[in-house]
Amino acid sequence: MDERNTTAAILKALHFAAQKHRDQRRKDIEASPYINHPIEVAELLTSIGMVTDPVILQAAILHDTIEDTQTTPKELEEVFGAEVSRVVQEVTDDKSLPKDERKRLQIKHAPRLSSRARQIKIADKISNIQAVTSAPPKDWSLERRREYLDWTEKVVAGCRGTNEALETFYDKALQEGRRFLNNQRS
Ligand code: NDP
Ligand code: ZN
Repeated sequence: MDERNTTAAILKALHFAAQKHRDQRRKDIEASPYINHPIEVAELLTSIGMVTDPVILQAAILHDTIEDTQTTPKELEEVFGAEVSRVVQEVTDDKSLPKDERKRLQIKHAPRLSSRARQIKIADKISNIQAVTSAPPKDWSLERRREYLDWTEKVVAGCRGTNEALETFYDKALQEGRRFLNNQRS
């Protein structure tokens, strides 16, 4: 894909994801627009992970569309092609399962994911631990925030060996998050 087509493909993914998530908000106290999160995940992949692969960047922008909106794998395949659709499916939880089971399966399945999907997973966890540290879901106890950080560490353990810069950045973000939470009063 040449540079002009890459830019066009990424803008198309942004437009699509912004439409799909248009009525959704994050769980923080300000109820930030949902789309900020997939944008941040894609931005971490470029600025920290030095990723230029347009399939990864499009899939990162679209990574929560199947899980959290009405979007289907077939629709993604028609609009963005089979490769992008497949990567998004790889990072999508089966929402018919109970939450604990989904959490367990993320840990179990991480090592079997493609290298593209693993990099998106790590960036997704960086974005979420930063949010859980600085702009957490309202009503989450300190204990729950700590447990969330612990769980991401187990998922990321299975994603290692694919992007060193991203992995090192995750480790730093986790360490900073833990330090911050340890200094809070419960
Ligand atoms: P949830 O799955 O309910 O919420 C976390 C997810 O919400 C993130 O992965 C992210 O998903 C999305 N999200 C939206 N807004 C934000 C935001 N501002 N900050 C962070 N994430 C946001 O949480 P869990 O069920 O994973 O709970 C975390 C841990 O807490 C678990 O280990 C669980 O066992 C434990 N727990 C503890 C309880 C307690 O009271 N002690 C009660 C329930 C669970 P995405 O990237 O897909 O958008
Ligand atoms: Zn996400």
